[in-house]
Amino acid sequence: MIQLSDRLLSMEESATIAMAKKSRELKAQGKDIISLSLGEPDFFTPDFIKDAAKKALDDNYTMYTPVAGYDDLRESISQKFLRDNNLRYAKDQIVVSTGAKQSIANVILSLVNPGDEVIVPAPYWVSYIEIVKVAEGIPVVINAGIEKDFKITGDDLEKAITPRTKMLVFSTPCNPTGSVYTKEELADLARILKKYPHIIALSDEIYEHINFGGKHESLAQFDEIYEQVVTVNGVSKAWAMTGWRLGYIGAPKLIAQACDKMQGQFTSATCSITQKATVSAMHADPSVLKDMIAAFKKRRDLVLSLLEEIPGIRTNNPGGAFYVFPNCSAFFGKRFENQVISNSEQLCMFLLEQGQVALVSGEAFGDSNCFRISYAASEETLTKALKRIKEALSKLV
Ligand code: PMP
Ligand code: GLU
Repeated sequence: MIQLSDRLLSMEESATIAMAKKSRELKAQGKDIISLSLGEPDFFTPDFIKDAAKKALDDNYTMYTPVAGYDDLRESISQKFLRDNNLRYAKDQIVVSTGAKQSIANVILSLVNPGDEVIVPAPYWVSYIEIVKVAEGIPVVINAGIEKDFKITGDDLEKAITPRTKMLVFSTPCNPTGSVYTKEELADLARILKKYPHIIALSDEIYEHINFGGKHESLAQFDEIYEQVVTVNGVSKAWAMTGWRLGYIGAPKLIAQACDKMQGQFTSATCSITQKATVSAMHADPSVLKDMIAAFKKRRDLVLSLLEEIPGIRTNNPGGAFYVFPNCSAFFGKRFENQVISNSEQLCMFLLEQGQVALVSGEAFGDSNCFRISYAASEETLTKALKRIKEALSKLV
């Protein structure tokens, strides 16, 4: 009989991927499902990146690459960090991986020993907690509710620190809330981190360009904690390259070397053609993204205005990414026929069955009062989906 490992059994399936799979299955059965479940841009990869990939193939970049990525790619990432974030990361502080997801796994697996605590502010992106569990670390969740714009303060962070704390893991702009930390808010976290030099902060900045309020701020900009920060980024979101699989870190050299070693035993490196294509994305002026960012902002405003028309739904005003994370707790205890809705998981199932809209429930993101809408879809699709959500919710009494 096949016996799976305790490690695997202790881990939850990715809720975002599970919901996307479910809606694909329902669509294949002929159901008219609108899926706002997966965080994936609905734009195509820009042509200049595709052209660079075609050239890489013609130039026979088809062999194993250095584990941490081609030299010219890491050079271009180093320049990007300086140009966009004013961060100095030398080539040997950069490791390129098979998606930011692997970058995060590399860092956590390289740093966390069994029993080490990892502070994760909630709402958090689904995979952080599960990767910590695979590393046999202990996730320590700090709840930041909607009234705090889903963000933690330095004091919140300090209260969660114990002698076993090894890491802090968070994202800005945040998946699933769209919240963006200001420079002052990051400085407040830095003020605390500085007091605990053994704690490493993983700052996941993969949505940096999808920011409606102005300039992106990086945690590593504060010199006094630069040696404690790993900056994660990637090309999936801004460059609409989810399927190409490329993420990267800028990190203290020791951590970069550790990730290189880890990756050398797992995947060797990400795809050679993807790497060459990414060089062109890194060299591109981010101003080429302005139409896409404007489209996301328009969609955010549309979704917020349609949600405002639904009694019982509360939202923050997300400043970035492409998610809204509405509070739906006003519907708990209500019923449809003989079904009582007690949590956001049940509400999402109800909205899938009665509204034919796929969303992801807040439980997987550490806040069971909310659900996540990914608005990476056309305005027409979003309008239709929100109408369906409103109609379905009005059936609950
Ligand atoms: N971090 C966050 C916050 C995300 O939303 C995602 C989702 N794609 C990732 C990391 C992983 O991105 P990828 O592996 O596609 O680079
Ligand atoms: N990050 C995206 C999301 O949150 C894609 C799915 C995933 O990688 O989990 O939906």
